[in-house]
Amino acid sequence: MQRSEIIAWLRESNEARLEDLWRRADLVRQQSVGGAVHLRGLIEISNHCIRLCGYCGLRVDNRELPRYRMTADEILACVQEGVAFGYGTAVLQAGEDPGIRADWMADVVRRIKTESPMAVTLSLGEREREELALWREAGADRYLLRFETSNRELYERIHPPRGTRYSGSGQVSDRIALLGMLRELGYEVGSGVMIGIPGQSYDDLAGDLELFRDLNLDMIGVGPFLMHPETPLADPQQQPAVPPGEQAPASELMTYKVIALTRLLCPRTNIPSTTALATLNKRNGRELGLVRGANIVMPNLTPPKYRIHYEIYPNKACIQESAGLCHRCMDARIESIGRTRGSGRGDSPNYVAR
Ligand code: SAM
Ligand code: SF4
Repeated sequence: MQRSEIIAWLRESNEARLEDLWRRADLVRQQSVGGAVHLRGLIEISNHCIRLCGYCGLRVDNRELPRYRMTADEILACVQEGVAFGYGTAVLQAGEDPGIRADWMADVVRRIKTESPMAVTLSLGEREREELALWREAGADRYLLRFETSNRELYERIHPPRGTRYSGSGQVSDRIALLGMLRELGYEVGSGVMIGIPGQSYDDLAGDLELFRDLNLDMIGVGPFLMHPETPLADPQQQPAVPPGEQAPASELMTYKVIALTRLLCPRTNIPSTTALATLNKRNGRELGLVRGANIVMPNLTPPKYRIHYEIYPNKACIQESAGLCHRCMDARIESIGRTRGSGRGDSPNYVAR
């Protein structure tokens, strides 16, 4: 698919043609990764973060947010709950938190791998090569790190280097290089973007989709950008401008288009139907994602007392629920669209083939 064709799909509004896109994406999903929906138990292990991302409520400058870091025993209790629910993977996610020491994290990974059959996915931000290598040696299977946008100028504006107040002399952030390093270390590698970031054009979004294909990713997560009032991007003065008619909308429809096109461009990758999408359409956003290309859901295992403080954006779906409620809700949604729950680890066919 050429860039012009991708852009045409992103701008498409004809319902019959869009129905055709959904049908094609669903067919390719069935042929490439099958009908099973794999469940990943999400554990949000810390909301401390040293970064100043212009889009995220966990940014260090948000002093309104009570901060927490889970203990190893609390994490292991969540993992055991996930095992009881039949999940094949635990996803450990956090802000970029140096309080998560590398050796402590390696011990937690080792405990999960010895005390459960779970695959372990980490999503802990930009960490040093030695740390990523240590966690891989401890048994971590996968790593998620979204590149957020392929437009380098926009990326630098909304994702300032570590150790600076907004751009300048800090350590430059190169998530694409980190994705290469993760692959070298033997991880199953995931990335993704936000859709409709202020300053992100249709052309940028088409570039994101091309980069997914070029990076040959094993997992690709996309979701709408959702404005958080305590972030710079909520201030119109600080929003990067694009020419009239070029701004990609942060809409539900655009999210389905990006999911469907991702499936067509990267047939064997694992694609989640995300919480951000479910936040825009709490009634059936997850299901629509699953019938338009996605094959993964991530029920939340984080204890409710912490979950409410993992507020990357407001009105997040599933923020009040317990793990048990989330589990039953996801099960019912999978059943309602006539799909089955995946069993086992649900490795990406792309990774297995490699
Ligand atoms: N700190 C790690 C990192 O940045 O990779 C992992 C946690 S971070 C909260 C996970 C993802 O949340 C980010 O990669 C970003 O795409 C998404 N996110 C952050 N703020 C968001 C917002 N306002 N709307 C939608 N997604 C957002
Ligand atoms: Fe921190 Fe990740 Fe949020 Fe950036 S996106 S502020 S690194 S939690």
